[in-house]
Amino acid sequence: MSNGPYGQLACGCGAVTLLVCGAPLGHGRDAEGEPVSLWPQEAIQLGQGADELEVVPDASGVDAWQCWRCGERLLHADDEAGVAVLAGSSEDDDEAGVALTAAQQRRLAALGYRVDAGP
Ligand SMILES: [Zn+2]
Repeated sequence: MSNGPYGQLACGCGAVTLLVCGAPLGHGRDAEGEPVSLWPQEAIQLGQGADELEVVPDASGVDAWQCWRCGERLLHADDEAGVAVLAGSSEDDDEAGVALTAAQQRRLAALGYRVDAGP
């Protein structure tokens, strides 16, 4: 197991940090074609900033986790799929397979994400 490409996410003002543990479920692209990595929600833990973190529903139906102080969005999360979506993707993450269930992939597709089929 690797630590994955993300150890910690921090917002612009530093008030909110999230810890990312384990390995991603897969990689893909968001509706704008930007690379994303897909993580089990339980891989995301709040480091600090419980008072600054706000979770707001996005237009697409997923929750955006953001800092209300600086407004920076740290990730998107979908409770139905139980998946957290992080911007960016590590191309050198060779072990990336697709560990998403078919139901999760359908849900993500419905939200506008395209999941890479894997190597
Ligand atoms: Zn902030």
